[in-house]
Amino acid sequence: NDVVIRVKNLKKYFPIYKGFLIKKHVGDVKAVDDISFEVRRGETFALVGESGCGKTTTARTMLRLIDPTDGVIEILGTDISRLSREELLPFRRKMQIVFQNPIGSLNPRMTVGQILTEPMLFHKIVKDQQEANERAIELLRMVGMKPYHMDRYPHQFSGGQKQRIAIARALSVNPEILFLDEPTSALDVSVQAQIVNLFLKFQEELGLTYIFISHNLALVRFISHHVAIMYLGRIVEMGEVNEVFDNPIHPYTKALLSASPIPDPAIEKKRSRLILTGNVPSPIARPSGCFFHPRCPFKMDICDKEYPQMKFVSPNHQVACHLVDKREV
Ligand code: SF4
Repeated sequence: NDVVIRVKNLKKYFPIYKGFLIKKHVGDVKAVDDISFEVRRGETFALVGESGCGKTTTARTMLRLIDPTDGVIEILGTDISRLSREELLPFRRKMQIVFQNPIGSLNPRMTVGQILTEPMLFHKIVKDQQEANERAIELLRMVGMKPYHMDRYPHQFSGGQKQRIAIARALSVNPEILFLDEPTSALDVSVQAQIVNLFLKFQEELGLTYIFISHNLALVRFISHHVAIMYLGRIVEMGEVNEVFDNPIHPYTKALLSASPIPDPAIEKKRSRLILTGNVPSPIARPSGCFFHPRCPFKMDICDKEYPQMKFVSPNHQVACHLVDKREV
């Protein structure tokens, strides 16, 4: 499998200023702080963590909706981190996003037909309106909707149908990479599975690569190939999804998994429980050493002094925790 996304030492800092007339730079919110990972074609890479961990900022930076502070964002072999608006255009087509809330992402004044054909005409995927209409009807069919829906408006549809329209729009420009930002969490449980199945079907049929942002760990395990666990702007554990979920090493990953039920009682019984105490510290004043040390039941002397480097514990599994040095691997 070839690598389609390569993120290297990516940083996104938001400066904080004090004062009204004379602004003084007093620090930075390090929303994304030196993260690196690779994603292969046709795979789903999940970014997981509590709100404020930097997963959404990572995705927005990779899409160049916001500019990175530093680092490399290589998409299909090109570093797009410094490209101009015009230079970014072909990459904007290749990378599409499906948001959590389909209500906010569809223009209420446009018909479904307009919503689907506009991006195709803008990116010159089709030669004229007629071809765009034909393709829009085909896209509706692909997401399980009917041709007569073309003339309707978003408010005439249910949440699940709106999300189907949003997926059809994302697919309308032949993307290679889809960012899925909690794409089912605003939907009824009964329709969540249908939407997930659509994503799985399109990945198989179209060879799409997904960046999946979620805090639903059961769903992450079900649809992802690789997962990165983020805490306060950094990746603390990353690897092949079954390996990370079956053999979590970072105490934070263990705590996240403890909080999420596993349907298999045999695994549930074997699993050691780890309950998180305390709140996520402020990203403005992160703790010294390992950022997790104030909440970590395994804290050692070194933990508040040195930030642990990412280390491989197996060819498909990396962890940033001083416990790794103590393990007999
Ligand atoms: Fe806990 Fe230390 Fe590992 Fe941080 S480095 S997670 S404080 S054991």
